[in-house]
Amino acid sequence: MADSNFDVIVIGAGVTGLTAAKEAVQSGLKTANIEALMFGGLVVNINELDGEPAGSGTDYASNLMMEISELGVENLSETVSAIASDGKLLSVTTDAGTHRARAVIIASGAKLKRLGIPGEMEFEYKGVSQCADCDGPMYKGEDVVVVGGGDSALQEALVLAEYAKQVHLVHRGARFRARQHLVDAVAKHANIVPVWNSVAEEILGGQMVERVRVRNVATKATTEIPSAGFFAYIGLQPTCDFAPAELARDADGFLITDAGLQTKIPGLIAAGAVRAGYGGMLTDAIADGTAAAKAAKVGG
Ligand code: NAP
Repeated sequence: MADSNFDVIVIGAGVTGLTAAKEAVQSGLKTANIEALMFGGLVVNINELDGEPAGSGTDYASNLMMEISELGVENLSETVSAIASDGKLLSVTTDAGTHRARAVIIASGAKLKRLGIPGEMEFEYKGVSQCADCDGPMYKGEDVVVVGGGDSALQEALVLAEYAKQVHLVHRGARFRARQHLVDAVAKHANIVPVWNSVAEEILGGQMVERVRVRNVATKATTEIPSAGFFAYIGLQPTCDFAPAELARDADGFLITDAGLQTKIPGLIAAGAVRAGYGGMLTDAIADGTAAAKAAKVGG
């Protein structure tokens, strides 16, 4: 793709980015969407959306993708490496060239964090997974370990409980921080067993995962849980290595914006899971995408 100019460039084709691109093009802006990987982002891991809209995450993202294509958004399959400002225009450098725009929306999202324990890399695709919906059926009648105490861990434990004999929900604390309806749903599943005050130390096995060693943080005692699958849901890390170094970030690397989603660089907007203070629900992704497109229209 040769160098090109747009009114607005949206980086990322998750729900926030797709919504921003749709709103921007509908408001008359010449819009590009850049995505290095598959469109959809984190929502495609969800088989059944929690509330409105109903259906699967993949369906929701596919519909948005089709809509923006029909509306005339230019979809670029490229990897962004840098963003710079000359004071008037922003330039986005990718592996295919440089694109310029009056406004750029960083909606590159976040990815699931890893624990970094022995066995996690070695057993990837051999029992270590981060997609319960995709891999759950492989664990029919088996024991699995899920780590975490937030919405993701409990939501995914509920998915796995439909297949697994027992889901060992290993949490470093003594109570879950997840939303109450998820805590209540987990409590109703006899085959989800919380392992409180405990951390996973090592994933063990031969060809495939066979056991997980956990340590009780209070008593320091360790036990080995027989397990064919291992799923860690311990939070997210932002995907924004390419963002200018001078942008403010919080302690976890999430981009800090003002209330209007503007960063300190004029015309450079951050929205969705990549920014600090993002709500985390599908409705928040949609709201951020909409607000970002409005900010681009005003600034542009
Ligand atoms: P999260 O809310 O940050 O929770 C992370 C969990 O992992 C916490 O329980 C935390 O323990 C634990 N943890 C963190 N680091 C750990 C470590 N090194 N070892 C062991 N445990 C560790 O992350 P999340 O559940 O992925 O949720 C992220 C955002 O997405 C949230 O805003 C959430 O509401 C949203 N979300 C929404 C939906 C939905 O809309 N249905 C679904 C999933 C997620 P502590 O509690 O002790 O800190």
